[in-house]
Amino acid sequence: MPSAPYVVLKFGGTSVASRSRWQTIANVMQEHLENGYRPFVVCSAVAGVSNTLDKLLGEAVRGAHEPVLKQLRLLHTDLAHGLDVDPELVEDYLEELSRLALGVSLIREVNPRLHARVMSMGELMSTTLGAAFLNSQGLNTRLLDARKILASIDDADLPDNRRYLSAACGFEPDTALQSALEEDDASAFLTQGFIASTPAGETVLLGRGGSDTSAAYFAAKLGADRLEIWTDVPGMFTANPRQIPSARLLRHLGYDEAQELATMGAKVLHPRCLEPVRRHGIPLYIRSTEDPGLESTLISNEAPDLGAKVKAISSKSGITLISMDTLGMWQQVGFLADVFATFKRHGLSVDLVATSETNVTVSLDTA
Ligand code: ADP
Ligand code: ASP
Ligand code: MG
Repeated sequence: MPSAPYVVLKFGGTSVASRSRWQTIANVMQEHLENGYRPFVVCSAVAGVSNTLDKLLGEAVRGAHEPVLKQLRLLHTDLAHGLDVDPELVEDYLEELSRLALGVSLIREVNPRLHARVMSMGELMSTTLGAAFLNSQGLNTRLLDARKILASIDDADLPDNRRYLSAACGFEPDTALQSALEEDDASAFLTQGFIASTPAGETVLLGRGGSDTSAAYFAAKLGADRLEIWTDVPGMFTANPRQIPSARLLRHLGYDEAQELATMGAKVLHPRCLEPVRRHGIPLYIRSTEDPGLESTLISNEAPDLGAKVKAISSKSGITLISMDTLGMWQQVGFLADVFATFKRHGLSVDLVATSETNVTVSLDTA
């Protein structure tokens, strides 16, 4: 296929949950094709499936996984019927899930390696059904395995939770990938968000909500012209619009402002998805799959500088706060260095820090 600029499109859980949403995906792809772009689509698991897979593991430890397996089978069979594609397409994944759950029920524990393999099935199933639907709609779409493209930055010294459940990947331009796709005669590509593999080929996850980051990695590797994150809200708001209905849409943000909001709890973007697009100057649009025509947020280098003002409010729940009181800090040298060395030794990442002369308070990043 002659080279055309790439647009990377990411669709989240609710955006891949029904035929009408997949029809929107097909329409968006078609529109980009007509405008001379080659769409590279990244999808999440169907809404609720990642949580159900997580629950499957918990139930398997007690040997009570069968009803959860049934639920997963039913949900994917229903979606396949809705899309008029063969439910048998996901049979191998459902069988593998059943084998893995049985394994957990026998050893009565879950390790991070196994956890990652089970959770990866959600994205593998949604994209398998989605690819069949897109091809049935006349969009010549190649399904790719994200684990063959995204390699995690692995370090045997990292705790296994980090290595397998919250991995990060490199995002330099990937000329080998670009040439391989160039030689492919497909008009568009579809792959999984959330999953990657270690250099040794083991499945890893990019952390909950990590499909945004997958899409940003692909955009950077392909040198895409733009990244579009399609979700259930039309953009980043001044607060979570589900909690604060009067929140206003932010039309244009800089990467650093968006980064600050994403890190501090605006879960519409995964915290790690901004760095790859910022580094390569790729504009990021947030769009609503529910209402594709709505005005949306653009995140880029060209955000107007409105001076210092409060742009948005975000909140995080379930955080761990540690407050350390001491009189020993006054005119002491290296007290904070000792405190932070302790966190480092225990593998704990610190989020926010507040200090006074007699108190240091930190919040811990529980992920
Ligand atoms: P997806 O499954 O498409 O990735 P997410 O649930 O991860 O979607 O992210 C979208 C959600 O982010 C919205 O439904 C909204 O509740 C939440 N959210 C939190 N803070 C904000 C914010 N400041 N602006 C927009 N959405 C926000
Ligand atoms: N499916 C994964 C999750 O729910 C990743 C994602 O949707 O971004 O966390
Ligand atoms: Mg998300």
